[in-house]
Order: sequence, then structure tokens, then C-alpha cells
Amino acid sequence: MSSETNVRKFIESDKKIDFNDFRKEVEEVDEEIDAIRSKKFVFNPGEGELQGLPVSVKDNICVEGFPATAGSKILEPYKPEITATAVKKLQEKGANVFAKTNQDEFGFGTFSMNSAYEIPKNPYDTDRVTGGSSGGAAALTSALKSPHMALGQSTGGSVSNPAAFCGVVGFTPTYGRVSRYGLIDYANSLDKIGTLAQTVEDAAYMLEIISGKDKKDFTTVERGKKKLADVEPDVEDLRIGAPEQYMSFPGMDDRVKKKVWKAIQRLEDMGAEVEEVSLPKVAKDYVMPSYYVTAMSEASTNLARYCGMRYGLEKDPEKKNFDNYFSEIRSEGFGEEVKRRVMLGHFVRQEGFREAYYIKALKVRRLIIEEYKQAFKKYDVLASPTMPIIAPRFEEADDLSPIEIYAMDTLTIGPNLAGIPQMSVPCGTVEGMPVGMHLLSDHFKEHKLVKTGKAFENSFGTLERPEVV
Ligand code: GLN
Repeated sequence: MSSETNVRKFIESDKKIDFNDFRKEVEEVDEEIDAIRSKKFVFNPGEGELQGLPVSVKDNICVEGFPATAGSKILEPYKPEITATAVKKLQEKGANVFAKTNQDEFGFGTFSMNSAYEIPKNPYDTDRVTGGSSGGAAALTSALKSPHMALGQSTGGSVSNPAAFCGVVGFTPTYGRVSRYGLIDYANSLDKIGTLAQTVEDAAYMLEIISGKDKKDFTTVERGKKKLADVEPDVEDLRIGAPEQYMSFPGMDDRVKKKVWKAIQRLEDMGAEVEEVSLPKVAKDYVMPSYYVTAMSEASTNLARYCGMRYGLEKDPEKKNFDNYFSEIRSEGFGEEVKRRVMLGHFVRQEGFREAYYIKALKVRRLIIEEYKQAFKKYDVLASPTMPIIAPRFEEADDLSPIEIYAMDTLTIGPNLAGIPQMSVPCGTVEGMPVGMHLLSDHFKEHKLVKTGKAFENSFGTLERPEVV
């Protein structure tokens, strides 16, 4: 592993970042991959441990002084007056936020193609998608050679998915470990802020900094205080389960599956105990309906606040009947996928349907959580492919129906419904495109992911960086 790609080692080496070179690189790279929504190069050397480290932030996470559109036209004029706790914690240690990154509108998507703005491109092949919804974050992390780390957000896999497609590490914490204060809500019971970096150590380092109880978010807890970045790589006697339902997922590209099996066998060769395990409730028929009903229900209530009076897009409400005014603003400001989800979300929550859909989805979610809990009594880590395919070409993605696209999330939404931590680690390429191995552990056992991820990376190495410019 080259030390240039390891931000933490760079910082510890006391070398300084040349901000002019950095700016030049960012501009050249972004010209090719459209990862950035807005940017500001006001660098200061940074007092504190991070010494001015450039950090990018997904556009649905608020940073004072930057717009926060969450990929939506309805928020185009919105300038938040607050900074998310996770960002503040980085800034307090001297990080420089220089960019907000492109994403699917409000996080609704799998390929970042649902953005109302620029659609980011995969640095390994700019004819292909980055994955989503934190596509800009993953693409930028993958493409930059200068030190950089990114904050993303996941509801149903939006950190792991683009990390896998773009060949970087994506680390999603246990629900409640990182404050959601300052995050533009998609689905409150599922949303997590996570980190993306080129190495396991860096992703863990950044996660450690942003973690912790926050009185501005009552769902946060002070748990798992282990110094994550310093956890030693070690898989000796680690029990790894490979869920059969994930490995034999019907839409799985065989070449992807083979790469991930090879990676799991590498862990076995290094001393881990590996076993295939059957987890029937994490299969498609349970996770898909439970996730999409829950996520859309929560999203449809969260999005009610965008009505042309409080945030973002506004015309002249006084002159019109309010109902007409609201629908005019929402018709203009929301994209197609947002409208679909708002309508479906309202549908499943309405009187008469609530029991049949929403309440049932919650019950199924409970069963899924219990199944993972049971599995973690026996296994330290569960391992599978992150995504069933490599990043598709834009025209291939265009041909997929919404249901086919939702199905692509099958492997990542189970762990998100359960709120357990996840790490996607690059483990090879197919047709020159990165493949990710998804590691899962029990709640607040992030350190097990770090020791497994680091051990794998030490043995396998990191992928060759893409040549973007
Ligand atoms: N693709 C999933 C969705 O559209 C997950 C997105 C996310 O995690 N924000 O809901």
C-alpha cells in the first residue's frame, strides 16, 4: 500500500498539503467525473490533528457557508445556517471542507442518476455509473491522488454501494453512533452518516472522530469507544459466516460472486473460520418490501416540509390558494423518483392500508433484526458481495425499471434495516471495474470490521487507482 493513499499516515508524517496543487487537481478531476455540487477553496492550514485535511461532504449534510440541495431543485436556493455535528467535529480538529458532493435527490436512488444536477461518473470508466446515493463522494475519493476523505450518508446502502462501484472503502456505523444533527432527513429510523476513504484505516479514523453522543440528536449514544483506527489487523480464530441467500442472490453476476468467494477464502487462509450460513429472512422477499415501505413512509412525511414557504424554492404564496401553491411548487421542485416515493409513502400509510403495509413492514423488520442477532451469536462477521453486479453503463442503467433498480439494493438494505455496522472493502476487479466485499458485524462491533478489513487489505493490497486525467 503506498503511503500517499493513506491520509492518516500522511498527516502523521507532518508533510504539508500544497493547497494550490490540490485545487488544481480537484478542478481537473471534477471536469471529468462531475462529482462536486458546490465548492469553495478557502483553505487554512488547520489547527489540530487533521492539519487542514481536505474533506468533502455529501450535499444532504449541512455545512454553514455552503448550499445544501440534497440533489433537489426544491432546495436550490437553500443556505443552511447550521453545520452538522459530524462536520463540526472534523472542523474542530482542523479539517477544511472544500466541496459538497453530488447525490441522488434526497438519497433516493442506487446509481446517483436521480440527481437534479450533475450526474457523477465512475472514475474507472466514465461511461459507467458511480453507484448511489453517495456517488459524488465515492467518485471523488476514488479519483483524487492528494489526501482527501469524504462524508457520505446511508439509508439503505448509499455508502457501501458507491464505495464498491468506485473501488474505495465505505464505512457505515451502527445507527446511533454518529449524530444525524444537520443531516437532511430521508428516513429517520434508517439514516446514518458514514465515511469513505481509500483505506480501511482512514475510513475508521474519520468515523472515530465523528462518533459520539450529541445532545442535538437524542438517538445518539456513547458506545463502542474503542479507538477504531488503531485496531490491529487480525482474523485469527474470527468466525465468518457467508449468508447463502446473499451468495446465491438471483441477479448475481457470477464473476462478482467468484471474486468475493476468493476474498473470503483469503481470510480463511489467514486463520478465520468460514462457514456458509442460511439466513432466510435477509433474502429479497423480506428485505425489499420491508425496506421500501418503511423508507417511503418516512420519506413522504419528511418531505412534507418542502412546500415553498420554509425552505428553498419560493414564489408568491399570498396571491394563490395554498393547496394550488403547494402542488405547483412541489411539481416543479421534485423529480420523478421523489414524486413516486411521496405518493407510494402516503398510500401505504393511509387509513385502511396502514396495518396491511406499514405496520407489517415494521413487523418484518423486527424479524430481520432478530435473524441477524441470532447469527451474531455464532459469527463475528458476515461477509458477502456488496453489490450483485459491477457498475453498469449509463445506457444499461437507463433500461432498468424502478423495481429492477430497487432489487439491486437487496444485499445492502438488510443491514441498514437492522442498523448494524457495515464496511465495503475493494476485493478485485471484473472487466476492470471494482468489486466490493461487504463485511457486517453486530451493533457497536465496528472494531471487528476494522480488524477484518485491515487484515484483508494488508494481504490483498488496494486497487490500482484509476487514471482520470
Ligand atoms: N437505494 C436505496 C434507496 O433508494 C438506498 C439509498 C440510500 O441509502 N440513501 O432508498
